[in-house]
Amino acid sequence: MNENIFTTVCPGCSMACGMYVREKDDGTIDIDWRKDAVVNAGKLCRFGVRLPHNLKPATSKVDGAEADLSDAVAAAGDAIGDGAVFVSVGNTTCEEHLALMKLAESKGAVVNTGMGAFSMVPSECHPTMGVGIPFDAIESAKKIVLFIDPYEQYPLLVRRILASKKNGATVTAVGCKAISLADENKAIGPDSYEAELALDSDSVIIADLNPSSDPEQVMVLLNLAKASGAPIIFMKPFVNAVGCDLASRKTAQKSLDQIITEIDSGEIKTLVCMDSDLIEIMPDETAVREALEKLDNLVVITSRDSATTDVANIVVATEPFYKKAGTVVNAEGRAIAGSGAGTDGIDAIGSMIGQPVDLFSEVNAAVLATLGVDAVDERVIPEYEKPEYAAMDVSPTAEAVETALVYAYNPFLWNGIVDDNDFVEMNLDMVTSNSLLKGIPVRIASDRGEVAVRFKVSDVAPGVVLSNVKLPMTTGMVTSVTLSR
Ligand code: SF4
Repeated sequence: MNENIFTTVCPGCSMACGMYVREKDDGTIDIDWRKDAVVNAGKLCRFGVRLPHNLKPATSKVDGAEADLSDAVAAAGDAIGDGAVFVSVGNTTCEEHLALMKLAESKGAVVNTGMGAFSMVPSECHPTMGVGIPFDAIESAKKIVLFIDPYEQYPLLVRRILASKKNGATVTAVGCKAISLADENKAIGPDSYEAELALDSDSVIIADLNPSSDPEQVMVLLNLAKASGAPIIFMKPFVNAVGCDLASRKTAQKSLDQIITEIDSGEIKTLVCMDSDLIEIMPDETAVREALEKLDNLVVITSRDSATTDVANIVVATEPFYKKAGTVVNAEGRAIAGSGAGTDGIDAIGSMIGQPVDLFSEVNAAVLATLGVDAVDERVIPEYEKPEYAAMDVSPTAEAVETALVYAYNPFLWNGIVDDNDFVEMNLDMVTSNSLLKGIPVRIASDRGEVAVRFKVSDVAPGVVLSNVKLPMTTGMVTSVTLSR
């Protein structure tokens, strides 16, 4: 293959759809369809197709000024001392994540993957929360229950669900927006799941796990899977969230909310983020920006330019994701290695821990051992152990809110990209009861402020305003708001 064409995966979500990235002479990139990719047979969603438009390489910086990589690495090595807190949510390879773990260990710390639910849910459940089920198993299920909106959140799952319907499956969607491919849409609460959904071992539950996931809801879904015998898959927003979880398992983890609280209180003075932009990832962007300003050192090791690289003291710019040597593990547990041979990020970390030579071989061997394979073959999913877990005593209670602004998380939102979908959705009753008019933006107000944004009428549950974009007046996944014209 031509040396400027890379076999890689889309970094947009844990589907990890295969693609080619072609570097052009002017330094920009194009993508090509990789029809033999097992996950997606060459198909990509809007995010994957628009990757060349949205992917901006990072630039190394020291004290906010552009710097050579070697100077940035030296400055980062000096800045990262004992007490530093490390975050890597899964936007890089398992190998780079493991290298960061070695750096963290040398400071007596761990690498936090940001999935707070892992620390709140019994550890015997973690293997089930981590690795899902093969996407092929979705196609052969008799019944599918969706706790996600596949069109918005994980678009390449749609073809799997449509294939299952062709094979005779029925699809039920549970959530605040009706999903057009579902045979039934139900806006029901956890107390009704078991009775109303009537699942069995031929069913499949498709849910989502992200840094803002409510641990109680995760436990409810795990209980539902256990009681019904239905396999469950938790999709993740980050391409290698599963691989990073496998690498980090058994370490005590902090949630991102906890990290922000500890920065606010002055407990955390140095934060090291690897391809993890908390400004983009967390719903309350204002609170994150205010907290990050309180740090003595914000060290960002990253392959792409993003909101956090603008405010970091030190940026260690690594090669783009498609150029990295190493492995990612997608939501179904499939390990995939691209054709990239870059080890800039790993070598940079190697320098910081005094192991500048061939750290890649060491961490790559550790990844293969964790996966229990001699070599990565994307056609074969490694075997994972999923122990039985006990049913958990849990009764989630949602805060009563008259009008709730709810995020419909999608790959654009997780990556801080303002897409042309900058509108909110609500049902017709909400539009008429708030005297809104077609063509005139709706004003949405919370304790944090007010914005005017375009709206669209959709089949959304009463009292819910669904947002495809992050709005500056939100305080969480769900924000209590009022609407006006
Ligand atoms: S479904 Fe996810 S991995 Fe696939 S192209 Fe879209 S964003 Fe990328």
